[in-house]
Amino acid sequence: MTDEILKVEHLNKFYGDWQALHDISFGIKKGEVVTLLGPSGSGKSTLIRTLNGLEEFKDGAIYFQGQKVTPDPKTWQALRQKIGMVFQSYDLFPNLTVMDNILLAPVKVQGRDKEDVRKDALELLDRVELRDHADSYPRQLSGGQKQRIAIVRALAMHPELMLFDEVTASLDPEMVRGVLKIIKELSDRDNMTMIIVTHEMNFAAKIADKVLFLENGKILEETPGKEFFDHPQTARAAEFLNSMDF
Ligand code: ADP
Ligand code: MG
Repeated sequence: MTDEILKVEHLNKFYGDWQALHDISFGIKKGEVVTLLGPSGSGKSTLIRTLNGLEEFKDGAIYFQGQKVTPDPKTWQALRQKIGMVFQSYDLFPNLTVMDNILLAPVKVQGRDKEDVRKDALELLDRVELRDHADSYPRQLSGGQKQRIAIVRALAMHPELMLFDEVTASLDPEMVRGVLKIIKELSDRDNMTMIIVTHEMNFAAKIADKVLFLENGKILEETPGKEFFDHPQTARAAEFLNSMDF
């Protein structure tokens, strides 16, 4: 047995003939935060989407909680209840209230009791300081508020692993901090296991247990968080950090 929640071995991914991911291997332990860094187009989103079954992979293997993932739609559908994901664009259903957005999957997919989930949801909304907005519609919320709701919606499933892909990238600067604070709290208070793609280097430096630095679909280095920001192993990563004003 291993305490790794997720393990990726020699993963290759193609878009048509073109190889987007090359021989990706890494693991993440329970409670650990892995940050994916790298220039635009390096494959961060492709990798994170592959870990959630949103992209097919050609060869290699993914293990979740020690079990090899059979990459068929049914398996991924089940796994997505344990692997929460939040993207850059908060894809809330516009015709549903905040509360109904949150209730939808736990009730319809997980078959949980609606009142139980509602209680859960209100607690989570408290945590992100949006309890007052339970009956609002997404259009009545700011981008930052919508993104906090998207996080709550994922958490309402009680995931074992959370994936965040540039969740603050399309937010106004004053909204960014509130969203990052919630993610940091998830790590500090709940010991949530997370894989995070971000361009917020100060945030990444604070939260990352481990950094995977990608370029051209390859992991150029895998370095403990603190070490990466102080002494990256590769010149390419040092240059990247410089370009990010870090
Ligand atoms: P990042 O998130 O690091 O910016 P992506 O994973 O989005 O990078 O993209 C990695 C590479 O894969 C890029 O060259 C991108 O153009 C290409 N790519 C991403 N999605 C697709 C797709 N659906 N079809 C073809 N190429 C894609
Ligand atoms: Mg991306």
